[in-house]
Amino acid sequence: MAAIDTADTRDHSRLTPGQARQMGIRTPETIAPARAPWAIEQRKAEGLPLYPTPRKAPAPASGRCSLRLSINGVSYRVRPIRPEAFGGIRAFRLTKGDGATHDVSLDVHGAACTCGDWTFRREGIDPTGCKHIRAAKACGLL
Ligand SMILES: [Zn+2]
Repeated sequence: MAAIDTADTRDHSRLTPGQARQMGIRTPETIAPARAPWAIEQRKAEGLPLYPTPRKAPAPASGRCSLRLSINGVSYRVRPIRPEAFGGIRAFRLTKGDGATHDVSLDVHGAACTCGDWTFRREGIDPTGCKHIRAAKACGLL
């Protein structure tokens, strides 16, 4: 085996791709060995395809998801519902652990909720809304 002059690292023409790789020298052959001219000629001679076949597409991602909203330490499950029922743009059903549900929605007039606080105390009076509306707005749902 011939000695390699490592002092002159700029002349890589005498190195084989394996030697260049061992020395950490980046050449077209070490960066993309399958595209090197000698590799293409070798693949042609062996009757192989010129480039590797593309990888098979992965299976679509799957799984289950859920969204939870915590209001003052109480956790609500959040589900989107059809906003047309409220004449709205967006609507979500908030379900508490005990099964109580409140529907929050957004329409051209603003946000609304089906809870007692909104219905009996705040609708038309308090534009900031009940805790459900405020939480939904704070989290970007409405
Ligand atoms: Zn509410």
